[in-house]
Amino acid sequence: MAAAKDPWLLTPGPLTTSAATKEAMLHDWGSRDAQFIETNARVLRRLLDIAGAAETHVCVPLQGSGTFTVEAALGTLIPPRDGKKDGKALVLINGAYGKRIARILDYAGRSHISLETPEDTPPDLNDLEAALKSDTAITHVVAVYCETTSGILNPIEDIARITAENQRRLIIDAMSAFGALPFDASAIAFDGMMASSNKCLEGVPGMGLAILRRAALEQCQGNAHALSLDLYDQWTAMEKNGQWRFTPPTHVINAFDKALDQFDAEGGAEGRHARYAGNCKILVDGMRGLGFETLLADEVQAPIIVTFKMPADEKFDFQVFYDALGCRGYVIYPGKLTVAPSFRIGCIGQLGASEMQGALKAITDVMKEMGVESGKS
Ligand SMILES: *Cc1c(COP(=O)(O)O)cnc(C)c1O
Repeated sequence: MAAAKDPWLLTPGPLTTSAATKEAMLHDWGSRDAQFIETNARVLRRLLDIAGAAETHVCVPLQGSGTFTVEAALGTLIPPRDGKKDGKALVLINGAYGKRIARILDYAGRSHISLETPEDTPPDLNDLEAALKSDTAITHVVAVYCETTSGILNPIEDIARITAENQRRLIIDAMSAFGALPFDASAIAFDGMMASSNKCLEGVPGMGLAILRRAALEQCQGNAHALSLDLYDQWTAMEKNGQWRFTPPTHVINAFDKALDQFDAEGGAEGRHARYAGNCKILVDGMRGLGFETLLADEVQAPIIVTFKMPADEKFDFQVFYDALGCRGYVIYPGKLTVAPSFRIGCIGQLGASEMQGALKAITDVMKEMGVESGKS
């Protein structure tokens, strides 16, 4: 686990990473270095395998945080409405990341509409079907797998089935899901899926990855609205010489390769899901024992991040709570809900049962210090 002096990050990212992953960065590599090019190719291959997509899709990486890859994938896959290819997206929104997708499409000048449900409610599948039937201009559906705003699990297989039955293309923001929640290209038809080196794959932050259906990407030349965000150009350039177009995040990729060794050793996405589900259960049971209430019903809670409602007790001061937990070595996260005051505690990263129990003990102590008897909202 991490060096003792680092705090435990119970957040949606950046996350706690293992010592082996961090140690993989203690070198320098040139971008044309044969060993680096080989490591890069291996990482991309491994990511395709994790998605069960090696036969049908390609993996295109991009420098930056996850949002850069979301923005790049949307701009590359969805053509502008210019009388030639005429793209139009339907965005399923139930949180801040869905809203960000709509904002990205606004910036890029892509035609789009949205279907929005409250932050504790998955998208309505009947509404999705009805929208696809009534608006024949829609070419793409864009969905968020785990909406990290609340931690809600959206029904991605059903969304994929309805999208495919209606002959539309699916783009999935699986940033906080890929590597822990089930994802298999043979069960989910999609043109694009975006994730990052950090989050459930437990690499260090700094690059995103898009898994793109090869036959779809081949049609995407000239779609992108920005050179640095053009995944068609990034793909074709990397196919030619194995190199990134612009300065590659060499340390991130070497750390990612090491993180994927640990991912394999843990039993892949199933093993990782089991550890995160264990973390989530310890957290939710323990917090409920202290009176706290979760935003979500257990059936729609993904074992990624949990939203708790703010306690009603006037003696509870979130900033004091946050700072006191930080002093004890546990970093939590403020809420991002529009509906109710809340805070979030993550279950992902290089954390296990003892860290979750340690966090609960710290929370118990801090509540006592504040004179708060119950976390009830
Ligand atoms: C983390 C995350 C992103 C990307 O966020 P960055 O801060 O840009 O890395 C996108 N979508 C979802 C659902 C996420 O959880």
